[in-house]
Amino acid sequence: MNDLVDIMSVSRDEMASWMQQQGWTRYRGDQLFESLWRHRVVSYGQISSWPKDMRQKMEQIAPFYRLQTAAVQKGTHGTRKILARLRDGQQIETVVLPHSYGYSVCVSSQVGCNMGCNFCASGLLKRTRNLTSGEILDQVRLANDVIALEQRVVSRVDLMGIGEPLDNYDNVIRFIQMAHDSHGFNLSYRHFTISTSGLIPDIYRLSQEKLPVTLAVSLHAPNDVLRSQIMPINKAYPIEPLLRACKSYFDNTGRRVSFEYALLDGVNDSNNMAHQLADLLQGFSCHVNLIPWNPVPEHPFSPSPKKRVEEFQRIVQNRGISCTIRKELGQDIEAACGQLRRHEEELLSP
Ligand code: SF4
Repeated sequence: MNDLVDIMSVSRDEMASWMQQQGWTRYRGDQLFESLWRHRVVSYGQISSWPKDMRQKMEQIAPFYRLQTAAVQKGTHGTRKILARLRDGQQIETVVLPHSYGYSVCVSSQVGCNMGCNFCASGLLKRTRNLTSGEILDQVRLANDVIALEQRVVSRVDLMGIGEPLDNYDNVIRFIQMAHDSHGFNLSYRHFTISTSGLIPDIYRLSQEKLPVTLAVSLHAPNDVLRSQIMPINKAYPIEPLLRACKSYFDNTGRRVSFEYALLDGVNDSNNMAHQLADLLQGFSCHVNLIPWNPVPEHPFSPSPKKRVEEFQRIVQNRGISCTIRKELGQDIEAACGQLRRHEEELLSP
């Protein structure tokens, strides 16, 4: 590790070894990891079990760093969207969502996104950098802070915020492993969902990690012509090889793949498209998640009417494919990821 350590991105094992190199006991590493993630301290000064000179030395060699909350929007269903500021002043979004089982958090993995899906608010701002594993992890801490008054902690994590997670592969995997650590957030691997626009080589790589996380693939169209129009990544990674990669993911992990399908009025929501989708997924142990689309003013689409969404679901289900409609949470707080960040940056720009 370098002299100046990015303390939030260090795993517990690495922390223990590093503490030993500094002349302290390995146990100090466990204490620091627990303080950061279980107790959610915001300075070394709050680690009261450490001697003062140790806290001072740590501040010099591994300056304390946390994401700062720039704004919180509250939705009518208990949804909270956090605009978080990074050390370099850039901003990302994190969304806390209530469910019958508790809370989930939707985290960002990059600042901006280069995938260019043309229905998405996040893609309107190009990627400027990847988030570190610590910056992704600290979004879980921010979410837990937001619901602390209810004495709750998040129990599920969706990598569905700003960015393409598999385009920041190493940091995302490290994040998941650190969030799973029983001395920290102690989250089950099965409670993570990685959402991807379909980076085929990385899906194969992920299938070898032995991490039983859920893979959610943004499909949004049942044929290559339409998918290439609304998701440029399809030109590099078309549907047929993408489905082969998904089947390999299922074969290697035993985890059913989820296909995300945002319904756009008059674009991808016809009965014929529903049948095409069912043809595509026949015989594949998977799930289809229909998403009522949140309007983005810069994009020319409209959300499909509720009746159309229900008819689309009925057709897919009748063809024997598991299919649900995602609950609409937070339309009132600009829930399409990236909108809050863009709105704030427009306000800040001259
Ligand atoms: S949908 Fe996801 S992958 Fe596509 S532009 Fe938006 S953030 Fe990027």
